[in-house]
Amino acid sequence: MTVLSGWGRYPRAETRLVAPRDPGAVAGLHRAFSGFVARGNGRAYGDAAIGADTTLALRGLDRFVAFDPGTGLLEVEAGVLLSEIIDLFLPRGFFPFVVPGTRLVTVGGAVAADVHGKNHHVEGGFGQHVESLDLVLADGAEVTCSRGAHPELFAATVGGMGLTGTILRATIRLRRVETGWMRQRTVAAPDLDAAMAALEGAGSATYAVAWIDCLARGAGLGRSLVYCAEHATRADLDALGPGTPPMPPVRRSALAVPFDMPGFTLNRVSVSAFNAVYYRRGQAAAGPDHLAAWQPYFFPLDGVGDWNRIYGPRGFVQHQCVLPKAASRAALGALLDRVSRLGSPSFLAVLKLLGPGSGLISFPMEGYTLALDLPASAQNLALLAELDDIVRTAGGRLYLAKDARQTRATFEAGYGDAADRFRSLRRETGAAHKIVSAQSRRLGL
Ligand SMILES: Cc1cc2nc3c(=O)[nH]c(=O)nc-3n(C[C@H](O)[C@H](O)[C@H](O)COP(=O)(O)OP(=O)(O)OC[C@H]3O[C@@H](n4cnc5c(N)ncnc54)[C@H](O)[C@@H]3O)c2cc1C
Repeated sequence: MTVLSGWGRYPRAETRLVAPRDPGAVAGLHRAFSGFVARGNGRAYGDAAIGADTTLALRGLDRFVAFDPGTGLLEVEAGVLLSEIIDLFLPRGFFPFVVPGTRLVTVGGAVAADVHGKNHHVEGGFGQHVESLDLVLADGAEVTCSRGAHPELFAATVGGMGLTGTILRATIRLRRVETGWMRQRTVAAPDLDAAMAALEGAGSATYAVAWIDCLARGAGLGRSLVYCAEHATRADLDALGPGTPPMPPVRRSALAVPFDMPGFTLNRVSVSAFNAVYYRRGQAAAGPDHLAAWQPYFFPLDGVGDWNRIYGPRGFVQHQCVLPKAASRAALGALLDRVSRLGSPSFLAVLKLLGPGSGLISFPMEGYTLALDLPASAQNLALLAELDDIVRTAGGRLYLAKDARQTRATFEAGYGDAADRFRSLRRETGAAHKIVSAQSRRLGL
């Protein structure tokens, strides 16, 4: 048995780890074991990718199967990382339609969480750009599902957290890009209203995200830097940086956190000091369009290896909620007010606008999503229950890919009828007692 955790290193659980290297082996594993779930690259924060008894580690399914440059359709095995797709295809003028805040996720994990990027308000989630999936069901039978074939199964698998079956292969659509640069504009927003107005105003921008200073209080509550961007064209390079080569040099992660930092390193004083400097730097850069390389724009955290160690040996949790638009202003104000009074503050807080979701239980709904990282101390875990209440009252819900601790009641309030339909489909396909993650057991899914 092995002790596994997600990216947040909380909670940790014992499981049997099995790592097939061939897609053909997966059906046999489904027949041999019970209480299993698939695992990609372990970037979900909590316990979604830990099997209740057995975990099928699928990074070994890492072959590229087919690519059509005419349509941008790419077929890959589920363990291929988005970073591997970008490394191979960006120099050829293609980029995934949707990327989350780290490129170190597998295609299987991106489908199973229906991950969203900074462009969800315009282009939807990862699942929207999936053409078809080859899936092994609970009993080992293999099916191909898409919007045309087995559409209910397809909709339940997109955002279904691995609980409908194991994805072997996916065919996804890549977008054409002319360069590896982004035409970026930064807006400094002195408070929450200004941040929301900037995100709403950025509705026509393909990418938009706000970094929030969670320690700002009073009149400055919610002060933010909003980063809007488009893929830069060659004409943009000529206008903004004549002579710039179309592909920026690839930066390998030079920095890494070498050991678990003591939990107290992130305190009100250190985080306040960091936030003040960061906000001032952003304010100074605000205004005109400029060029930013794709790596720091999309994946700033990938530049620091093992950064999950800065929260200390107890690990950390991310609280990510989405709130319906109409209730967002009041609920965001309440969440930020509560968090800004914390002793061990959130180092990283991000606000984005989401459009409608695509999968049966996928997380996105039209509204605002706020993500907060907090050390997993007893005090913070108690406080998160208060944040859950604010989210529930506002009609929102929590993201399963980040969740390590929500209660069944919070989950049911957020996902309602969709969760019931998902459970029925799991019963009908034999997955209910066979495909079980630590998370699905905790939430009664
Ligand atoms: C720094 C950082 C930033 C992030 N930013 C974002 C963001 O901006 N937007 C966003 O949406 N998410 C974000 N995430 C979360 C991350 O994108 C998701 O958790 C994603 O699912 C992780 O993929 P993975 O390959 O690591 O999968 P894992 O973490 O290993 O698994 C995640 C889920 O996918 C299932 N799964 C994995 N592979 C398969 C398969 N082959 N078949 C069936 N099910 C499978 C697992 O059972 C599990 O339920 C971020 C995570 C990190 C660490």
